[in-house]
Amino acid sequence: MEMEIDDTPKPKGEETKGKPIVVILVGAPGSGKSTFCEQVMASSTRPWVRICQDTIGNGKSGTKAQCLKSAASALNDGKSVFIDRCNLDREQRAEFLKLGNPNVDAHAVVLDLPAKLCISRSVKRTGHEGNLQGGKAAAVVNRMLQKKEFPKLSEGFTRITFCQNESDVQAAHNTYSALGPLDTLPNGSFGQKNPDAKIQLGIMRFLKKVEVPAYTVSDANSIQSSVSHKNIEEKQPSYKGHDNISSCSGNASKELKEGENLAVCSSGSHASLNDAPTLAFPSISTSDFQFNLDKASDIIVETKAAQKNIELNKFFTFVGDITKLYSEGGLRCNVIANAANWRLKPGGGGVNAAIFNAAGPALEVATKEQAQSLHPGKAVVVPLPPTSPLFSREGVTHVIHVLGPNMNQHRPNCLNNDYIKGCQILHEAYTSLFEGFASTIKTQGKLAKVSNENLDSNWAQEVIEGANTKHSPNNDQKSKREHEHEYDRSKKCKGSQDEIGANIPESKIGKVDKNNDKIDGSMAKAWGSWAQALHKIAMHPQIHKDVALEISDDVVVLNDLYPKARRHLLVLARSEGLDRLADVSKDHLQLLKTMHDVGLKWAEKFLQEDASLIFRLGYHSVPSMRQLHLHVISQDFDSKNLKHKKHWNSFNTAFFLDSVDVLEEVSSHGKATLRDDESLLSMELRCHRCRSAQPNIPRLKSHISNCRAPFPPSLLQNSRLVLAPCNAGIDP
Ligand code: AMP
Repeated sequence: MEMEIDDTPKPKGEETKGKPIVVILVGAPGSGKSTFCEQVMASSTRPWVRICQDTIGNGKSGTKAQCLKSAASALNDGKSVFIDRCNLDREQRAEFLKLGNPNVDAHAVVLDLPAKLCISRSVKRTGHEGNLQGGKAAAVVNRMLQKKEFPKLSEGFTRITFCQNESDVQAAHNTYSALGPLDTLPNGSFGQKNPDAKIQLGIMRFLKKVEVPAYTVSDANSIQSSVSHKNIEEKQPSYKGHDNISSCSGNASKELKEGENLAVCSSGSHASLNDAPTLAFPSISTSDFQFNLDKASDIIVETKAAQKNIELNKFFTFVGDITKLYSEGGLRCNVIANAANWRLKPGGGGVNAAIFNAAGPALEVATKEQAQSLHPGKAVVVPLPPTSPLFSREGVTHVIHVLGPNMNQHRPNCLNNDYIKGCQILHEAYTSLFEGFASTIKTQGKLAKVSNENLDSNWAQEVIEGANTKHSPNNDQKSKREHEHEYDRSKKCKGSQDEIGANIPESKIGKVDKNNDKIDGSMAKAWGSWAQALHKIAMHPQIHKDVALEISDDVVVLNDLYPKARRHLLVLARSEGLDRLADVSKDHLQLLKTMHDVGLKWAEKFLQEDASLIFRLGYHSVPSMRQLHLHVISQDFDSKNLKHKKHWNSFNTAFFLDSVDVLEEVSSHGKATLRDDESLLSMELRCHRCRSAQPNIPRLKSHISNCRAPFPPSLLQNSRLVLAPCNAGIDP
C-alpha cells in the first residue's frame, strides 16, 4: 500500500482557510463511523452535517444519489459534511470525491479496525439504522471487507487519516473536533500501515526483538520516546521535496508474539507521536554497503537501542522528506539524524544535502562547534540554533550527524568490501545515534522535571515545547513563532524574576547539560538552547569568524542578527561565567570599560559614515540571550525587526541601562542596579524624543521617522547619547 503526500504547491496565505470539508468515512460496518461523526459533531464548533444512506430517505434507507444531493447542498451552505457509509472501495468513493473542489477539501478517515472487532460489534448491536445487526452481520461484514481498497491521495483526497485502533480513532476524533470554522488541516496521508512493504517485516522483526526498557527521569514520569525510521531498504533516497511514502508503526512490548506484531505494528496515528521526544533517522550507509533489509534491521536491533535509555514504546517508519516531517507530514520530530559525510560538510546530495539546505548556514556553524570531522561508526549531536528554519518551521532542536561504514576508496577509512567490518561499523553507528538521542532525551527530561515542579521557566518551557508540542490546529500557531530574541517569550511568564527562569535554584533544575549549565553554587539559570548563540560565539569566536566584526581577548563584536535599528551591534564579553549583568561585580569593571570603549569606537566609525546617526550604548536588565553583551544601537529604530511593544520598551524604558551608568554603579557599588520589572516592557508606547504616546508600533514607527524633537534631558546628560562630532553641542 502506497502512501503519498500531496506536493501541489499552495499559494502563500492560501485562500483555503476555512473551506468546508467533505470527510468520506471509510470502514466496515461496526468500525464506528457513525459514532465518530456523532462525537465530532457534538464537540465541534464547525457546522457539520452527517449524510447517512441508511437514513437519507426521511429517516429510512435511501439512494447514493440522495446522499450526493444532500451533501452538495450542505457544502454549498458552507457546512462541512461527513459521508457516513462504508465507502470501502474506490468506485464507491468516486462520486463523493467529486464534491471536493478548490473550495471544498476532500478528506478520508479510514476506520481500519480489526475485522473481529467490527463483526462482534455489528452482531451485538441493536437498533442499527440499517438493521445490520445480529447473526447476519458477520457474513455481511466479512464479505464487505473482501472488497476493501484503501483510499489514496491520488484519488483526489487532500488528506487521509488511517486509524487502526481505538487510540488512533480517538486522535482523529480530537483532530476533527478541534477544527474550528476557520481552521484547516495539513494535507497528506497519515498513519497508514503498509502490509506489502518489506520494511514492515523488518520492523516487525525489530519489534519482536525489542525488550521494553524503563526510561525514567529521576522521580518524574517516564518519558516515552518514539523512533521514526526511514525505510532502511530504500536505496539512497532522493530528496526531491516530497517522496512517496510508506509507513508503519507499532508498539513494542515484551509480550509480543509474532502473530500479534502485525496488529500492533499497524497503529500509526501521527497525533500519538506528539507527546514524546522523537527521533527520525534515515538509512545509514545501507545502499553504499549493500546491506539487505534483514541485515540492516538486525543491526539496528543488535544495537539494543532499548538499553540506551530509550523506551521503544513506539516505532514508526515514515518514508518521506526528513526535513519536512512536521510541515508536510504532521510528525513532530525534535531530533533528526543525518547520514553525514566525514567532513561534516553540506552538499553531496542525498539526505546530507537536504538537511544542510533546510537547516541553513546555522547548522554548519553549530556543527563546527561540536566537531570538525567524523569517523565511521560515530555520531555527533548538534543543538540546532533557533535561527535555523528547521528549528522554527519543523521544531527540530537537534541534528545528530552519523557516519556509517565507507566503501568509497576516495574517502578515509575505506573498508575494501570487508562486509564483516562494515556490519560492526554500522552497529557502532546506530549505537552512537541512539546514545546521542538518549542524551537529548535526558536534557529534556530534566527540564520537564523543572516544569513539573511548576517552575514556570520560559526558557525551560521552550525546550520542552520543542519536543512536546501537540499537533493540533491551535498549536500550529505556536510552532510558527519566531525563535529570534523575543521579549514576547516572557508573555507566558508571570511573576518575579525567579519565576521566569532567571534564577532557578540548582537543586530544582540540576545540571541541564554541558552547554547549558550555570551552576554557581546557589542559583542557576536555565538558558534555552536558542539562547546560547551569543555564548557560543563568545567562547569560540574563531569558528564564527564569518559573523564577528572584531575579536579580541576580551570581546567579540558582531551585528545583532535581528537589528532593531539601522545600526545595531553587540559587544560580547568573552569571560566564561559572565552570562548577564546580574553576574557582574567590581572585578569586571575593567572588562565593562573595555566593552564600552569598543562599543564607542564602533559607534564613532558608523558616525563617520553617517553623521545623522545617534547611538546609545547599554544593557538589558534581563537579557534573553546568554553571555553578557552590550547593545550599540542607533536611535532611528528603523528596522523591520522591531515588531512589538516589548522590543521598543526594552530599548526605551528604564529596562535599558546605559553603559555609562552601569560603569558608574559598578565602580561605586560593585554592581549595577537592574530594572527587572517586567511591567516596563508592557508600558504604553512613547516616542523616545518628544515622549508622545503612540497607539501601536506602525504609528510609532511612522511618528519617529518624522519626529525631530530634542531628546529628553535625562538622555542628554552624562554622554548617554553618542553623536557625530559635527553635531556635538547641538541639541539632537
Ligand atoms: P538581550 O539578550 O535581550 O540583551 O538581546 C539579545 C540580542 O541578541 C537581541 O537583540 C537579538 O536580536 C540578538 N540575537 C539573537 N540571536 C542572535 C545571534 N545568533 N547572533 C546575533 N545576535 C543575536
